[in-house]
Amino acid sequence: MGSTKEELQSSCKGIAEFLENIADGNVLICPECENEINKEDSIIEDDEDDVGSTKLCPECGAELRQKEMSDWLTDVLDFNFVINRQGELKDSEICVGFGGPNIWVKTDGRGVYGYWGADEAYAGLTGEVCSQINDAMEEIYECIK
Ligand SMILES: [Zn+2]
Repeated sequence: MGSTKEELQSSCKGIAEFLENIADGNVLICPECENEINKEDSIIEDDEDDVGSTKLCPECGAELRQKEMSDWLTDVLDFNFVINRQGELKDSEICVGFGGPNIWVKTDGRGVYGYWGADEAYAGLTGEVCSQINDAMEEIYECIK
């Protein structure tokens, strides 16, 4: 049994790795059964015309598409926009855990931050992940402002 702090740390690390995988295009989703599939676990069907390969769902055989940051943002609990005085989106804070541990993805701090009682944990994110998150958040912000 790990301590609370270790669990919190591994939750933050898991979320950071998942976001890196989305940014790298390694997470695929099935439009039929809504499964999330790692690129390596998909069935690769080589195109006869040699224009590339199609990735198929191992469950139902439907054609998979890449999970985007905008898809991920529909799964999260809540988010805050960080707006500068010109009214432009500068950074984003996304809530992915609440009630047990509170876990936030913060692009200004480039990381996943976990809080649980007096314990805190952190896992870093690359600039590429943060810029993809901010791009997707900007699209939402443009629609609701
Ligand atoms: Zn499927």
